[in-house]
Amino acid sequence: MRVGMMATAFAFVALAAVAGPLYEIRTPEAAQPWEKRAAKELGDYLARRVAGQFAVDGRGGVVLHVGDTPFAVSKGYISSRMPDEQWLVRSYGSDILLNGGGTRGALYAVFHFLEDVCGVRWWSPQEEFVPPASPLVLDRLNLSGRPAFRMRTLHRGMREPNAGDVAARLRLNGFARAGLGFGYRYGSPNGCHTFDHYLPADKYLKDHPEWYSCEAKTGKRRGGQHGGQLCLTNPEVREQMKKRLREFIEKDRADAKKRGIHPPTIYDISENDNWTYCACTNCVAAQERWNLSGLMVDFINDIASSVRDDYPDVIVNTFAYHGTEEPPKGGIVGADNVMVRLCDTQSNMAAGMFEPGNTRFRDFLEAWSKAVRHLSIWDYAITYTRELTGLPFPSEFHYADYFRECSVRGVFGFFWEHESPHKADMWELKYFLETKLMEDPMLDSDELIATFMREYYGPAGDHVLAYRRRLDAARRAHNGKVTWFPSLSEFDWIQPEDVAACQDILVAAERATGGREPFLSRVKRVRVGMDRLVCLRARSSGGTDAPEARDAAERLKAFWPVWMERYPKSGRRRASDELVAAIGIPPPKRFAGMRIHDFPAQLINPGSGVEKTVRIVDDPESEAGRAIQVDADGSHHYNLPYTIGLYDGGASRTVIKKTFPKPLSESGYAWYEIGKAKIPDSKKSYIWLTGTWQTSLSLKDKVELFGRTFTIYASVKFTGRKYRPGSDEPSRIWIDRVVLVEE
Ligand SMILES: [Zn+2]
Repeated sequence: MRVGMMATAFAFVALAAVAGPLYEIRTPEAAQPWEKRAAKELGDYLARRVAGQFAVDGRGGVVLHVGDTPFAVSKGYISSRMPDEQWLVRSYGSDILLNGGGTRGALYAVFHFLEDVCGVRWWSPQEEFVPPASPLVLDRLNLSGRPAFRMRTLHRGMREPNAGDVAARLRLNGFARAGLGFGYRYGSPNGCHTFDHYLPADKYLKDHPEWYSCEAKTGKRRGGQHGGQLCLTNPEVREQMKKRLREFIEKDRADAKKRGIHPPTIYDISENDNWTYCACTNCVAAQERWNLSGLMVDFINDIASSVRDDYPDVIVNTFAYHGTEEPPKGGIVGADNVMVRLCDTQSNMAAGMFEPGNTRFRDFLEAWSKAVRHLSIWDYAITYTRELTGLPFPSEFHYADYFRECSVRGVFGFFWEHESPHKADMWELKYFLETKLMEDPMLDSDELIATFMREYYGPAGDHVLAYRRRLDAARRAHNGKVTWFPSLSEFDWIQPEDVAACQDILVAAERATGGREPFLSRVKRVRVGMDRLVCLRARSSGGTDAPEARDAAERLKAFWPVWMERYPKSGRRRASDELVAAIGIPPPKRFAGMRIHDFPAQLINPGSGVEKTVRIVDDPESEAGRAIQVDADGSHHYNLPYTIGLYDGGASRTVIKKTFPKPLSESGYAWYEIGKAKIPDSKKSYIWLTGTWQTSLSLKDKVELFGRTFTIYASVKFTGRKYRPGSDEPSRIWIDRVVLVEE
């Protein structure tokens, strides 16, 4: 069957009316959804790319054969006889064969043809590049390949309607859609941390405490996603898990059949997200023999063995995470249908895995690769401290080493977390490298980076590369370390002279664009990271009046919200809008000249009633301009006296609290001194600001404050009938900032 080139027919008729069609796309008689999709992608992009002439190997009248066409069959390249995901682009005279193995090979042939031969680029769901329509004159074609890693999943944390399409074009493969050729998916009930999905503590802990982990300190049995784990040596637990796994597989297969899709083949059985592992006598004995990770492997082996005969394609997946990251000892190995997903939570993200002091993950990778046949990786490309995501750290120069080592160790695939594309450091560059190196880790990294710089930043490419090299040199010179939940001080390796040098380079980069878009905006986006570092440092040192901090704040306010418009208005983006709004707010006059940590309303957690009873609003009475506004009539928790304090979530105790029988001022804001206290060394701690404890300043990502003593203040205003005798206005509490004053 001929695929009609309806959309393009008019275009080339106009350009080449005498010569007839420039090219034709053919698919099999009964094309599969992925073959139809591949042909459509090819047609859509060629329509934009080709004008005037299309020739291959000296001949016009090009015919592109996509999928299991009669032409492909005649040449012996059939999807069922080629290795899964292998792809081939080969010309025979003016016929071009595009096909590959399994359900994605034909798609990959088309995408490689568009990218490698036609020059199309997919930078992100927001940006692509198609060379202007022009003649396409090609030499004889003979390209082929197969992705190095089987499973290639990248989590962006944003759901643009075209995000899956772009990922598929870049040969990522975690899809449920037939048109994208399906991919590696996790079955029910969830892709990670599934112990509590299998045996919910809420449901069973009371009647079966022995199924759950025995807490070492207290001897108490504990379960739940954040409370405990399972007892891995209890035979009843293992039988329960086997029964449920079978039920999940059956349910997924029935569901897939109904929807006409491929059923998932990977089933996750992995630990809850906490550190309370079982310390019963049997578990401790097993840990001494095999390590905690070895006991986990034994547990998963047992469960996986129960489904091997009936479901030979199913792989049971577990974590090597937190307490189980350290590889097993005592010679235990994973069964053939078991996969271990090793997480990297300890590495210095700014340094390579071969640098002294940063080899832990590489050592684990080597040991785990010997312990299991299927080893996959869960890793992180950004830092997660909320306000600090996006501060610069030059990890891109180490990516090739990383993926190459994974390839050498036979890694099966990746779950790669790379969220916050609107603010993460050099997101597009790193995404480009990740997708390229997951497919072929042997590619020349310097060349990839140079290509990206040249094509994405145009005339500013050399300057942007110089900026990144300057950062990398600073990191090496000052032995910089960046962890996945860093504090602001972890970026101290970017010293003032480095900031100045980088800003100079970035000024030159902007100038080099000559104001041309999209290059100018892309360079400005690069500068966001450095400008935010300058602003955050200024705020933590009370130096927001410094000219360089004021300039950085002005640039951010002018540019960043415009850039962010292209992203969906998700929670993450809204939170970033607030970050922009918090930039450059002058420190409170009350504390002039003191060393303070200042948290305006935008950085305070309003609480779970957001937009119903709690919201962030503009308030001209506030020195900071904005405040959290709490509707106080609906709850007795907001009655006087007003109580605020500091809670240590690690030790489950109140550190300090202060009670005010009535408002401190007749009207407007007043400073409520909570008192002097040491900030607990726990990410679960917070300063609560109303009687519900909902509105609070989380200390989770403020590691640099841990263990230090401050006098804590909140700026609060009370209005309405609960607080002001004679008022018949609605009652409201307004909180516009929290300040921690250093000794
Ligand atoms: Zn136990």
